[in-house]
Formats: sequence, structure tokens, C-alpha cells
Amino acid sequence: MGQEERITAARFWSIINILDPSMDDYLYIYDLQNDLYCISPRALERFMIPRSQFHDVSGTCSQFVYPPDVKALQEDLEKIFNNEKSVHDIEYRWLDREGNPVWINCKGQVTHDEQGRPEFLVGCINEIGRKQRADNTSGAMRETSLQRELERYAKERLDGYILRVGIDNFKEINENRGIDYGDMILRKTAECIEETLEPGQKFYRIVADEFIVLDVTEGHGDREAVQLYKKIRGVIDYFIAENHYEVFYTISGGVMAFSKVKNHAYGNLMKLSEFALNEAKNRGKNQHYIYDLEDYKKFLYRRKLIKTLRQAVNNQCEGFEAYFQPIVNISGKKLIGAETLLRFYDQEMGVIPPTEFIPLLEESGLIIPVGRWVLEQAVAACSRIQEKIPGFRVSVNLSYIQVLKSKVLSVILDLVRQYDLAPGSLMIELTESGFLESNENFISFCQELRRNGILLALDDFGTGYSNFHYLYNLNPDTIKIDRSFTAMALQNPNEYNLLQHMVAMTHSINLKLCIEGVETDQELQKISKMDPDYIQGYYFGKPCPYEQFLEDHVRAGELLELK
Ligand code: C2E
Ligand code: CA
Ligand code: CA
Repeated sequence: MGQEERITAARFWSIINILDPSMDDYLYIYDLQNDLYCISPRALERFMIPRSQFHDVSGTCSQFVYPPDVKALQEDLEKIFNNEKSVHDIEYRWLDREGNPVWINCKGQVTHDEQGRPEFLVGCINEIGRKQRADNTSGAMRETSLQRELERYAKERLDGYILRVGIDNFKEINENRGIDYGDMILRKTAECIEETLEPGQKFYRIVADEFIVLDVTEGHGDREAVQLYKKIRGVIDYFIAENHYEVFYTISGGVMAFSKVKNHAYGNLMKLSEFALNEAKNRGKNQHYIYDLEDYKKFLYRRKLIKTLRQAVNNQCEGFEAYFQPIVNISGKKLIGAETLLRFYDQEMGVIPPTEFIPLLEESGLIIPVGRWVLEQAVAACSRIQEKIPGFRVSVNLSYIQVLKSKVLSVILDLVRQYDLAPGSLMIELTESGFLESNENFISFCQELRRNGILLALDDFGTGYSNFHYLYNLNPDTIKIDRSFTAMALQNPNEYNLLQHMVAMTHSINLKLCIEGVETDQELQKISKMDPDYIQGYYFGKPCPYEQFLEDHVRAGELLELK
């Protein structure tokens, strides 16, 4: 206070009373030497504070401070008394007039007497729930509080972790059982988390159905975070069992130890903890996932690839190319058609194999425009090749996403009409895996194809859940034996036998059979003995661009002599 007259508690008190009516916050002065606390009279209307001035602060505070928070408050005040700190800035809970906990931020500055002893703590109390910093429904603090805490903490050290807890399928819970039920789940989850917390741990509500526990205990990391996740799950499971499973839900946990992260900027920490929780959910929910840099890099790569693919699609499918691989009629040793196989190249990312980009196209829905583009490339190529080889056939792979989520049938029929192609020149290849997921839609799609004269192949037969019932349901023209099955048959007599029986059976129900993956002359000899209808494999040609396909397999209107 320098040269000025020293301010007394009474002076402070009169200032508080002048300012009080014009403020949202509550001003207070704590006379440390006389153990006297004075606070804005308005605070009495809101909180369980007995009087606006009272002695014995430590004893009285138990009347209006939420009991679990009393200890933290007293510890901080202890430091002020001992002159170890002169700034008081903590977030904890007071009890409102109904006895409900309410989050407050109490800030204050210590003034000292002439001997340098702490004299007054002067400051204000701010109800953070009002500014969305705390969530009074679930009892957790909000994200802005977390940000402050993390920014303060990150500068200091590397110990500790963030455990991000998410309620699984919360959207469905809300939709199926109503908002009130959802709120109850949120509140219960918050209570269960809070029950498990120990000193050094704080928790926050981030978005509707996510909570974060911040643990800054020295030496704590992944292991303690996983333990905590399991403990929280245990408490929730107990609560569920206690209620005879009338309430049922699960939680996932994303674990991120600070020691594993280089950049401690708040935004980065939130991003990584979000990634960790999403991984736990993507891996099947009701489990935890520990942040791992390699996984995160893969995630970023995939995201970048999706972005690149999307740009390519928006740029008239630049970077995509349709390759063609010959399909040969084994009895006449004649080229009868080609399978269209998609390729993708990006200047920066290089050549990306279809096994990598097709699932991403499916996931993002981009397979719909790309699939349409491939169909057009195939139909256009087929119509030009037919000028040289009448009856030439082209096969196109369709993803189940195209069948389920787009009007691909009319796209196919329009293209066939537009390019004036005989419908029997186009063969659609479908895999069983897609078929399994959506029986009826696939059956009607296949029926429509056939009604319109388009050919149908059941792809990748012999892998996964091959079931001869599908053959009756889908009624394809051809089944294609996957390369992995061919490879096994070439190595193992039992598999060879099985394949041979499959060929016979297929023929007995009047289906054609195409064997994929024949690479050498020796393999061709062995496979030919089974008497399949068609063969597709590197032996007759690798997939290649249209021009090269013409060059290598079709020339001057003649069918090139096969090897
Ligand atoms: P798929 O439909 O089973 O296609 C046959 C795959 O086997 C092709 O792989 C082909 O290059 C390969 N292959 C054929 N003969 C041989 C051989 O003798 N040896 C070896 N090692 N491989 C052989 P590719 O082109 O990498 O395509 C992989 C998969 O990607 C395809 O498997 C198909 O499921 C998918 N795919 C490719 N293009 C498209 C497309 O336009 N649309 C959709 N939905 N999927 C596509
Ligand atoms: Ca195929
Ligand atoms: Ca295959």
C-alpha cells in the first residue's frame, strides 16, 4: 500500500457494499489475522452462507462448501496463512440454498502488513456454471476450466494423463429412451466418475456425452489411467446391477499420458485425447485404448488419403484410371473379355493399391461417384473393343454401398443404352460379403439386373462365408474363384479336390466358373484339368491401361494368339 493510508477491513467492507448491487460476482474480504470473513450480502440469497460477516472461517465453511471440496480449500488457505503463496485461485463447489453443489471460481490476492505477514485476502467469487465453465447437471466442470488448468499445468511437468470417457451410443440412448433418461445417465456417470476420484484428479464434462479426468499426480501415466478406467467401469457396472439392469449402458475410455506427447498445447492435447477415445469406440466400444503415435500416424494418413481422394473425385476423377485384365475362355483358348480394375495415383502420395483406397471410398461414400465413373470407362472401352472383337465382354466390380445407397441400377441401364451395348456385354461382379449384410436388397437388385439382360458374377467365391444357398438366391451366371483359394488348391491336394468338386457342382447347376490367379504354365496345366470355363491371371496378362490392353491383347480386329 506504499505511502498511502492502510486500508482496514471496515474500509473494504464499505467498498464491497457500494459495488455489490452492480456486480454479477460476489466480492469478499478475508481478514486473515482476525479470522473474519465478509462477503457481498447477495451471496446469502444464493448460497448456504450463514451471515455476510462471520468468524471461524475454517469451521463455518463446512456449512456452505460442498463437503468433498473442503479439504482442497483448506489446503490452499493453509499455504496462504504460511505465506507460501499470495494468489488464491481455485475452482470448487459451494452449496446453494437447496443444498445442491454449484461450481465457483474463487480468486483473491493477499495483502501484507508492515511486517510482511499476510493480512487480507481480497477477491471475488464467480459462478462458473453461468459462463458454461461448469456443468451443474452432471456436476463436472466445463471445458474452459480444463483449458485453464492444462495451460497452467503443461508448463510445469510431464507426469500425469488425460482419461477421456465417452458413453457408448449416447445418441441412441437419447433417441430410444428420451432426453430425461439420457440426462439421468449423464448424471449417474458423472457421479460414478466422481466417486472414483482421488486427490490430484479432476474431472470435466467436455461435450454432451464425454468426460475428461485430468490426473496430474507425479509418476502417474498409462497404467494408472487404465486402472482408473476399469475402476469407473466397475462402479458403473455395480450401479447397473443394483438397478436390476433397468438401466444399461457402457463406456469407452481414451487414455493419453502426457509423457507420450511432445506438443502440450491445449488444442493438441484435446485432439489426441479425442483420437484415443474414438479409437476405443472404433475398436468395438466398452473398452479402453492407449494413445499410440504409430496408430495416430495411420489415422492421419487415412484422413489425408480420403481428402486426396475427395479432391480427385471433385476434379473429374483425375488420378483414377481403369485398368483391364484379360479373361480367357479355356476350351477355345480365346479372349472373351476383361475385368475392369481401378487404379489410383496421386503426385504426392504415389500409387495407392485398390485394397487400400476402395475401403476408404466405401467409407466416405465416394465409391458412388467413382463407381459410376468406372462403369462408364468400362462400357466405353467395351463398346470400342467390340468394333474389333464382337461379343467382347467387360466385367465391373460393384461395391455393396453402391447397391444399397445409390441408384446404380439405373446408372448401369442408362450407360448400356447410351453406348448402345448389348446388355449381355456387361457383367457385374458382386462379393458375398456385401450380400450377407442385406439380403433382400441384393436379391432384388440381382433380379433386376438379370431381367434387363445384364450378366452377374459372384466374386471371391471360396473365401469367407461361401454358402451354396446364395447361389440359389442370387442366381448368378458365373462364379469367380478367388486367387487365395486357387493358391491353396495348387498347394494342397485336399483343397484341390474341393475345388474340383466345386467346378463339377457349379456345372451341374448350369453356372459358369472363372478361376483367378493363374500365374504360370504349370499352374495352367493343373487348373485346366478341372475343366473350368474361364481363367483370369497374370499368365494371360496383368491388369493394364486401355491402350496397352489393345496393344497386347486386341490388334487390328483380330484376336491375338494366346500363349
Ligand atoms: P478382385 O475383384 O478379386 O480382383 C482381382 C484381383 O486379383 C485384382 O487385384 C487383380 O490384379 C488380381 N489378380 C488377378 N490375377 C492375378 C494373378 O495371377 N496373380 C496375382 N498376384 N494377382 C492377380 P487388384 O487390381 O489389386 O484389385 C484388388 C481388389 O480391389 C479387387 O479384387 C476388387 O475387390 C477391388 N477393386 C478393384 N477395382 C475395383 C472397382 O472398380 N470397384 C470396386 N468396388 N472394387 C474394385
Ligand atoms: Ca472382381
Ligand atoms: Ca477375387
